[in-house]
Amino acid sequence: MRIFDPHIHMTSRTTGDYEAMYAAGVRAVVEPSFWLGQPRTSPASFFDYFDSLLGWEPFRAAQYGITHHCTLALNPKEANDPRCTPVLDELPRYLAKDPVVAVGEIGYDSMTPAEDTALATQLQLAADHGLPALVHTPHRDKLTGLRRTLDVVRESALPCERVLLDHLNETTVAEARNSGAWLGFSVYPDTKMDEARMVALLKQHGTERILVNSAADWGKSDPLKTRKVGDAMLEAGFSDDDVDEVLWRNPVAFYALSGRLDLHLTQPEPLHEGNSILRGGE
Ligand SMILES: [Zn+2]
Repeated sequence: MRIFDPHIHMTSRTTGDYEAMYAAGVRAVVEPSFWLGQPRTSPASFFDYFDSLLGWEPFRAAQYGITHHCTLALNPKEANDPRCTPVLDELPRYLAKDPVVAVGEIGYDSMTPAEDTALATQLQLAADHGLPALVHTPHRDKLTGLRRTLDVVRESALPCERVLLDHLNETTVAEARNSGAWLGFSVYPDTKMDEARMVALLKQHGTERILVNSAADWGKSDPLKTRKVGDAMLEAGFSDDDVDEVLWRNPVAFYALSGRLDLHLTQPEPLHEGNSILRGGE
């Protein structure tokens, strides 16, 4: 089983996770920029983070046989903090970089006017840079949040066909599907989607334009959820080809819209800016 995790926050994960992911079949990941759990206090904090998503994290992934791309943005939560919003002015020079395969994650957290502005601004940036967008849908009040998100997308210069709506569930899948957007499902322990619900949803709605991710981060999460969904699909009677479509071909097709997806893994460099993942240069 070859697996592409289209939404995982590897910065928050260990090298042991990379090893386990490789063993489970993960060969490619996309890491969206997001918040740290603790508020950032200045744009400079974003820039160091963006640089690590463009440099250190792909270096680390390559040591474990996994290609790493990223999506960059001002995240929905920190769009409300005036200390952070100036990052929008500097975003264009980051979006020009090759490993960036979308603008994201953007969208709504609490559905505030500041979030309206950040979402619209960043959809325009995606259109300007020829990039698709990864759009997070809110965890509370999901259907209202989806509808408001779709209104803003439809008013933007970015067609729905270049948008991946993420964190969908049973209440939002039908309207999201009708929009023409790509459909992302985050499978977590305890909350949101689980493997059984994901399989039921695939049975009802088919496999077309559907992506499954672990969204693993510093919270309670599991970077092997993609594999577990693949196994659950096979147990439920889906074919190997169905699993390959959902776990590999759909994410490849979506991020290839950037024209920048490069899944060829070269021999990893031993050092990144003088540092290795080994202790004391063993
Ligand atoms: Zn995320």
